[in-house]
Amino acid sequence: MSYPFTAVVGMDDMRLALLLNAVSPAVGGVLVRGEKGTAKSTTVRALAEVLPAVDVVSGCRFACDPATPDPACPDGPHDPGAPGHTRPARLVELPVGASEDRVVGALDLERALTEGVKSFEPGLLAAAHRGVLYVDEVNLLHDHLVDLLLDAAALGTAYVEREGVSVRHASQFLLVGTMNPEEGELRPQLLDRFGLTVEVAAPRDPGERAEVVRRRFAHDADQTGFAATWAAEESALAARIAAARARLPYVLLSDGALQQVTAVCAAFDVDGLRGDIVTARAAIAHAAWCGREEVTEDDVRVAARLALPHRRRRNPFDAPGLDDGTLDQALSDSRPDDDGPDDDGPEGSPPPRPSDDVRSDRTSPAGADGDAGGTAAGADGDRAPATAPRGEGGGSTSAAPATDRTAVAPSDPFRIRRLEVPGIGAGTAGRRSRARSERGRVVGSTRPPGTVTRLHLTDTVLAAAPHQVARGRSGPALRIAREDLRQATLEGREGNLVLFVVDASGSMGSRARMGAVKGAVLSLLLDAYQRRDKVGLITFRGADAELALPPTWSVEAAATRLRDLPTGGRTPLAAGLLRAHEVLRVERVRDPQRRPLLVVVTDGRATGTRGGHAVADAHASAALLAAAGTASVVVDCETGPVRLGLAATLGAHLGGPTLSMDELAADSLAATVRSVRKVA
Ligand SMILES: [Zn+2]
Repeated sequence: MSYPFTAVVGMDDMRLALLLNAVSPAVGGVLVRGEKGTAKSTTVRALAEVLPAVDVVSGCRFACDPATPDPACPDGPHDPGAPGHTRPARLVELPVGASEDRVVGALDLERALTEGVKSFEPGLLAAAHRGVLYVDEVNLLHDHLVDLLLDAAALGTAYVEREGVSVRHASQFLLVGTMNPEEGELRPQLLDRFGLTVEVAAPRDPGERAEVVRRRFAHDADQTGFAATWAAEESALAARIAAARARLPYVLLSDGALQQVTAVCAAFDVDGLRGDIVTARAAIAHAAWCGREEVTEDDVRVAARLALPHRRRRNPFDAPGLDDGTLDQALSDSRPDDDGPDDDGPEGSPPPRPSDDVRSDRTSPAGADGDAGGTAAGADGDRAPATAPRGEGGGSTSAAPATDRTAVAPSDPFRIRRLEVPGIGAGTAGRRSRARSERGRVVGSTRPPGTVTRLHLTDTVLAAAPHQVARGRSGPALRIAREDLRQATLEGREGNLVLFVVDASGSMGSRARMGAVKGAVLSLLLDAYQRRDKVGLITFRGADAELALPPTWSVEAAATRLRDLPTGGRTPLAAGLLRAHEVLRVERVRDPQRRPLLVVVTDGRATGTRGGHAVADAHASAALLAAAGTASVVVDCETGPVRLGLAATLGAHLGGPTLSMDELAADSLAATVRSVRKVA
């Protein structure tokens, strides 16, 4: 039994965003960002319980509405008088590891070819039609699947095509994604396609936290009793959603209100017009939700706060959120002549917070007075970036220099050429190294042990050809048997674990040089983010090596560690490499499919407690990594007129290429000409 939606404490922005989408699915879904343990999933699952029930044609696997059945329904066409029934709106969860067939549905190519029958097994997009499609950890979902989802969400249609056989069916759903930004960001292009985004955090107020625990205990002890306590709340909320849906088509967006929408979007420098459209739709939904028939300034403010924060972000290291001062200014500058009766606050006074608005609209059951805590106010306004650096205020909002005086600021990042792991892997889809995958180009075929999902037509025909006479072929049609079917082998790209080993010692010399090195590593991190890699960071200086960041999806966290990295002291290169060896050994057990790429950023110098043996120790460590089959690249930081070329020697021991910082850049012509330089 799911937790009642109305019993969720706090999470006001999230609940409001979900409700606005429940009222108007055209708003385009919600992306919820926040740390673990904030009841994000509980809240999403609770939503389905308060959504209005749906009428469906009995026996239709595609949830056709008896009043307006989908003319293209694969289970149709349905008779106008087809029997129907009412069932609750569905919540369909899409697991991160789902295959494309699982999501869009599977066409049975074997039946199509051998029997001439078009047979389609519906996927999650069909199951979610007229309900909620929920993706937890949406940031870890392969880009291609996110694209599929967002396309279906935008068009209201799912489309499957395999080898010329295609199926199309209606797929309208409320898309909800949740993610923990510490585990990696969503690509900005995808971020912008979610209608609304909200940030959630656990309540800071002890009273409110206590209420969360109290309700959770009560729920776990007696779910039926708990549900009964909240039944009246739940049905009131369900009724309110239904009423708002009915009111929605009658809500007026005046020219004045529209002007405020566009003024706000312009003030926040929002690209394109999607932001304006979503803000307008969300404002209309909010008016309907509040029982109004005309959009007010307050509706626009609420809508902008939910619809715009993710549309103005420029790079993954920027802090989320929307500046309230700018928002109020844009709203007041674009305010139509002051004759609106709906403008209830005197000018200059702070406008009511949308979170207060939701709260005032919701009645709490008797005895649940802990609900009134002001956490939402604490959580919005000045939101700290999700990945606060250790002990720092988290005030840096871009890749700008860190405030820490002891740390050297990185130089500007640049575009990196692709560094790859040699050979062909089988890891999770990404954009770095070659791999066998579900997507990509066809490189051959196999006789599949199970069902065919990607038919290799030519090889299938070739396999069938020799048997035609024996099978008694008489007409023009080829006689294809099951054993002729060939599965295409595809090659795409995988993401890797990029483990950085960075020299932070005095060997790296001047601050300017360290700045350049940090800039290069920051560029490599940005590149890893775009290629969907996991990253880790080991630094070495002074007495030992430090695992500054264990392998993670959060490139932001790595960037923060890098910026704050202190420098100077001895150069224990061997210790850095040994640490890498240990980390990779553990990761091989933890995530065996993910192939690692070691990136050693050094000038190849080594000093240590063993004096003259330091270089030899480093080379021995390097040989150990090479023996374990670790793919590696050395980035040579040596500069100046006299060069020792020590980094290249290290690269040779590692068995990988050595690149200068210039050669690291994607757009450097020299990089492609000189390419991989190997020193024997
Ligand atoms: Zn149907």
